[in-house]
Amino acid sequence: MARVLFVNGGLEGHVNPTLELVRELTRRGEDVVYLTTEPMRRRVEAAGAAVRTVDAHRLAEIMRTADVRNFVGVATGLLRCAEVVVPRVLEAAQGERFDYVIHDTILGSGRIAAQLLNVPAVASCTTFARPPAVVGRMLRRLAAETSEAEYTRLIEQFGEACDAVRQEYGVQVDSVYDAYCNPALRTLVYTSRRFQPDADRVDDSFKFVGPTGGSAPAADPMDLGEVPGDRLIYISLGTVFSQAPAFYRFCFDALGDRSYRVILSAGAKTTLADLGSIPPNFVVKSYVPQLQVLEHAQLFVTHGGMNSVSEGLLNGVPLIVFPQGADQFDVADRVAEMGAGLSLSQRDLSPTEFRRHIDRLLADDSVREASQEIGESLRAAGGATRAADEVFAFKGAAGMAG
Ligand code: UDP
Repeated sequence: MARVLFVNGGLEGHVNPTLELVRELTRRGEDVVYLTTEPMRRRVEAAGAAVRTVDAHRLAEIMRTADVRNFVGVATGLLRCAEVVVPRVLEAAQGERFDYVIHDTILGSGRIAAQLLNVPAVASCTTFARPPAVVGRMLRRLAAETSEAEYTRLIEQFGEACDAVRQEYGVQVDSVYDAYCNPALRTLVYTSRRFQPDADRVDDSFKFVGPTGGSAPAADPMDLGEVPGDRLIYISLGTVFSQAPAFYRFCFDALGDRSYRVILSAGAKTTLADLGSIPPNFVVKSYVPQLQVLEHAQLFVTHGGMNSVSEGLLNGVPLIVFPQGADQFDVADRVAEMGAGLSLSQRDLSPTEFRRHIDRLLADDSVREASQEIGESLRAAGGATRAADEVFAFKGAAGMAG
């Protein structure tokens, strides 16, 4: 048995995929202490870990002042989160011995923590792996799309965050790649090598373990018979970007009064009364049992969150992706590249054109087949069992017992 410190923030999309891994590690006798935010406590404890918390409000405050419109600004903000997370790591480690750290790839604090505790680390990557060459390409694109003064400002701010980490903790952050991807001896990636873009550039330290089955809080099962019509279309922009009444009304315009049945998850922060009159073939709810709905859906209109897309692909459902932010543009591109659906932007689209895309996709068997094929690769990647196997292989390679 070893003691592991899991360092994560409080984002659903970053914590949920780790829950089954924690369950599997504790089942195999590991003693897991998990750093996250208070709202996650119950689910992380239920997975078998002891929870230590970081202040979600302070993390949110730092990210609010960060320039999150570009990935260097995101990397800078996340690095600055160290001032909240690292002191909590040091508190958790007082009088304790940890054998290794598992940390989220976006949170540089985890990598800093491993160095301060002088233990090896595994990284937990809830999006696609980003090898150095890809981050280099992203930097060149940012430089080309940004004025010289703005780019210089971003790089200077990033440098200041690196200096602060060096001065405070004596830890060197060498590059934007280091801060944005936080590479470790092993990185668990919760997708398949088949679905990973630029897979030939991703070295063998990245282990593609597929989705682990950890998911968001379950909603009560739905009576799908309550939705009139024939083929079922499911629409959701996830939990973070879902305050989008204009998009939902656009969907009403495109699909209202058609023979399709439509279930729309509008998100907790959307006031349903603001959506105006809801077409009779729609059922709109704040939160739906997504996994249940996807088992029956013929099409998934999604924002391209990694969890939602994996869940759609695991069910072999064609996808129409309207990326809203974060890594969703990359995910949308990959879905389109693999032929499992389309990447669209509402900005350039009329409801009629949207409807035509939907009709065309539903009539094209090859899209469903592509989705099924990727779904199969996700299943074959092994999930939480494989993730835990990789952690144990890492322990073996690092000279730790069983
Ligand atoms: N989800 C759900 N019901 C809803 C909306 C979302 O169960 O009505 C779940 C969905 O199954 C997925 C998660 O919430 O597991 C959303 O994660 P994702 O990475 O797709 O997007 P995010 O919310 O992080 O943007």
